[in-house]
Amino acid sequence: MIGCIGKEKIDAFRKLLRNARKVALAGHIHPDGDAIGCVTALALYLERELGKEVVCMFPDALPQSLEFAKNPSLRYLWGITEASDLIVLMDCNAFSRTGLLEETLARAAVPKVLIDHHLNPDTDSFNLVFSTPDISSASELTFWILKALGWDLNDREIGGALLAGMTTDTNNFANSVFPSTFTMASELIAAGVDRDAILRDIYFSYRENRVRLMGYMQHEGLKILPEGASYMILTKEIQKRFDFREGESEGLVNIPLSIKDVRLSLLLKEDDDHYRVSLRSKKGTSAQRCAMTFFNGGGHENAAGGKLFPERDLGGHSLEEYVKQALLESLK
Ligand code: 5GP
Ligand code: MN
Repeated sequence: MIGCIGKEKIDAFRKLLRNARKVALAGHIHPDGDAIGCVTALALYLERELGKEVVCMFPDALPQSLEFAKNPSLRYLWGITEASDLIVLMDCNAFSRTGLLEETLARAAVPKVLIDHHLNPDTDSFNLVFSTPDISSASELTFWILKALGWDLNDREIGGALLAGMTTDTNNFANSVFPSTFTMASELIAAGVDRDAILRDIYFSYRENRVRLMGYMQHEGLKILPEGASYMILTKEIQKRFDFREGESEGLVNIPLSIKDVRLSLLLKEDDDHYRVSLRSKKGTSAQRCAMTFFNGGGHENAAGGKLFPERDLGGHSLEEYVKQALLESLK
């Protein structure tokens, strides 16, 4: 069904799993709902169905808003690694996306598997690669891999983790949805996964501050370029004023795309010595190219991100000048 999952690859994955006693699953820096979802689901499957010892590793902590997505029966490590017989990297295309875990993971002398849906996978670094951009999420890809391995869908915690991961990455079926995505959701819901509980945890559990911050950014912070782009800068000062916590700007960058003529939306979030960049675009405009060319990043065609170091990257321009120029170039 999914092109990148053939019988040979599934057999190869089975063999790698058979030869491993302990498996390490790793996700990307600033873990999102898809990363925690697919790692959690695969970990539960490997422990419960195959009797493996599993450790889930992330470079940094999960935002408060995604705490619900952890499974209490699993072992998660944040910012440290542990030795294993097999490494599976999920929801990112290279070890360079794993922050301070990168060196240890890349150098480990054990077989490595990639399960991802981003462009340009670093295939040379892996013994086995499941990768396609033609899927909603790493969680959906994991669903199809688990089914090919023989999973019977009879575990609602595994199913819930996968459905939650797919839901966050598609922004609740708004972006990157394929026919296979609906099939996955349909099968999981038919198997008893509680979608209402997932929607409650993701979309109806924020703090008041977050709603007020979203309102403020749209009212005061949003800048529109008539050529078809928009940007917002979530400065340290604004973060402080709204008692901002990691994860609370989730979804903000998507909002300006609801304006008819805006094709490319950018959000800068001030961090200590740099800005974190989020980009979203409509079909026909490439957020990914903008992230790669101007913001040291990458991602998907219509959802991408990166970093901007003002000391190094601005080339004598002011921050806003640089951003405007980058957006205008990317509209061409
Ligand atoms: P977000 O805006 O939600 O933080 O990120 C959107 C997408 O952009 C993510 O799916 C991720 O793949 C990609 N992305 C975000 N930050 C970076 C980055 O620093 N480097 C690369 N290569 N991709 C990123
Ligand atoms: Mn993803």
